[in-house]
Amino acid sequence: DPVLYLSARVAALPDGLVVVLADDLTASHRIEATRRDFVANVSHELKTPIGAISLLAEAVEDAADDPDAVRRFAGRMGVESARLADLVSQIIDLSRLQADDPLAEPQVVDIDQVLHDAVDRCRVDAEQRGVTLTFGGAHGAKVLGNARQLSTAVGNLVENAVVYSDPGARVVVAAHTRAHSEDDDVEITVSDTGIGISSADAERIFERFYRVDYGRSRANGGTGLGLSIVKHIAASHGGKVGVWSQVGRGSTFTITVPAHLAEVRAADHEGLRA
Ligand code: ADP
Repeated sequence: DPVLYLSARVAALPDGLVVVLADDLTASHRIEATRRDFVANVSHELKTPIGAISLLAEAVEDAADDPDAVRRFAGRMGVESARLADLVSQIIDLSRLQADDPLAEPQVVDIDQVLHDAVDRCRVDAEQRGVTLTFGGAHGAKVLGNARQLSTAVGNLVENAVVYSDPGARVVVAAHTRAHSEDDDVEITVSDTGIGISSADAERIFERFYRVDYGRSRANGGTGLGLSIVKHIAASHGGKVGVWSQVGRGSTFTITVPAHLAEVRAADHEGLRA
């Protein structure tokens, strides 16, 4: 690839010549390649439900004399359009996240509130599935970042914990602050006693569109984007995600983010809490 180097004689360059620093150029190539992959994956993923809906529409036309069949096909069209709607809204979430740096205009985020929001959002679903959802407390944890993004991340983890569990399972959501000499880390954990994940799958579940056991996952109607959104949010807060799991036993997902303690204290002191 051609690489132009920015020199001290930049003023002598003719008008309209674009000069890019070598590092920026390689980075921009990488970003462009990731973007191309993403667009290819998105088109592939969108084509599946769209294809199913148009086949079902044909089937409905052909079965016009058979009300039972029409009802059945219509039901499946409903399922496929719901899946399409989920995909579109998660793709929009992902692209919004990429444009929205949580540390550009950080707020002091009360993790208690974040966990409560996530648990509240999943409570009805958990009840319907016979899963017990418990809030284990956040012990006053606070971080510097974006409350809405962190709620999305924790919500995705709780949603998964509820979905990938059988009736009778338990899900616990909690957070702890771990002190270090430099700064504190806040560790948010979502633990379930659900179906668990094999170690081979665990290595890949944070990739975009990756789903375990197609049959079962598809039955649950997911998109394979939830965990890549979680990973993106953790990373843009300067943190990371992790998972511990055993098949048949359950899983514990962890988001660890730096608290930026000094800034949190200063903001609290000035009464700037968001
Ligand atoms: P999906 O929309 O399929 O849930 P995610 O990115 O959220 O997409 O998750 C990717 C895959 O990881 C899921 O399809 C599922 O197989 C697996 N997974 C995620 N969370 C859990 C969990 N708590 N227990 C078991 N498997 C899980």
